[in-house]
Amino acid sequence: MTDRYAVVGNPIHHSKSPLIHSGFARDTEQDMSYEALEAPLGEFDGRVDAFRKAGGRGINITAPFKLDAYDYATHRSESARLARASNCLKFERDGVYAENFDGVGLVNDIVRNLGVSFAGKRVLLLGAGGAARGALLPFLSQNPAALTLVNRTLEKAHALLRDADAAEIVPVCGYRELNGQCFDIVVNATSASLREELPPVPATVFGEDALAYELVYGKGLTPFLRLARNAGVRRIADGVGMLVEQAAEAFFWWRGVRPETGAIITALRMPLV
Ligand code: NAP
Repeated sequence: MTDRYAVVGNPIHHSKSPLIHSGFARDTEQDMSYEALEAPLGEFDGRVDAFRKAGGRGINITAPFKLDAYDYATHRSESARLARASNCLKFERDGVYAENFDGVGLVNDIVRNLGVSFAGKRVLLLGAGGAARGALLPFLSQNPAALTLVNRTLEKAHALLRDADAAEIVPVCGYRELNGQCFDIVVNATSASLREELPPVPATVFGEDALAYELVYGKGLTPFLRLARNAGVRRIADGVGMLVEQAAEAFFWWRGVRPETGAIITALRMPLV
């Protein structure tokens, strides 16, 4: 029987995951199907129970259900625990396994696809929500010279560092304190761009030859990327590569086969104008 997988969210019609995973399955000759499932709000568990009963082997999870997926699981990886959220579940005989591949997908996109190493670099991470939680340990594992965390609500940034046991090594600051500081990699892991808002980050944070990376994708030149471009930053990227790389990690976890990502990223990439 063909193995079934799905992405669960609400809304879900915009999701690129069916396209990405169907492409991976075709390229790697896996006998599997992948569909988009919209779960009514408050009905995540019931929808996933039904999918499992119908032979589902695993799901990706998108907004607003990443916390529900984390709670649904019986076994949770370290990255899911730190993020307190899961974007990928695997259904096994002995339970439901939860992972969070957003952070590793982000690092893979920056390092492998964009060719920017973290080693010895000054890195600034904007935001302390689920995405920043997922990024923190993968960033530290790349041995940057320094990693600074900034968030509008400072207590959330401090809580993240406490949970990650990283309060001693990662300084936290508010946006105002960024004046006079300069970084080589600046990652916008806030959701501000979804509403065309700009986190109050000064244009002076971008060092010479910096990379400005925006997690939001498919929105062209967001206010954050526009700020970077106007500040003379030549290397800017949105999160489409991260999306495909986290999908590749999920695919590998489910199927044991690592798909190529380059062609699908090129196909999905929208011009940053
Ligand atoms: P979240 O948990 O809701 O966290 C949102 C974060 O954004 C919080 O730190 C919040 O600060 C901050 N924020 C929101 N509006 C802001 C503003 N106007 N100025 C400054 N900070 C602001 O969201 P999330 O799950 O971390 O997701 C963050 C973004 O990443 C979303 O846009 C999502 O689409 C994107 N994402 C992309 C991928 C991908 O594959 N490319 C994967 C995951 C997520 P406070 O704490 O002060 O409220």
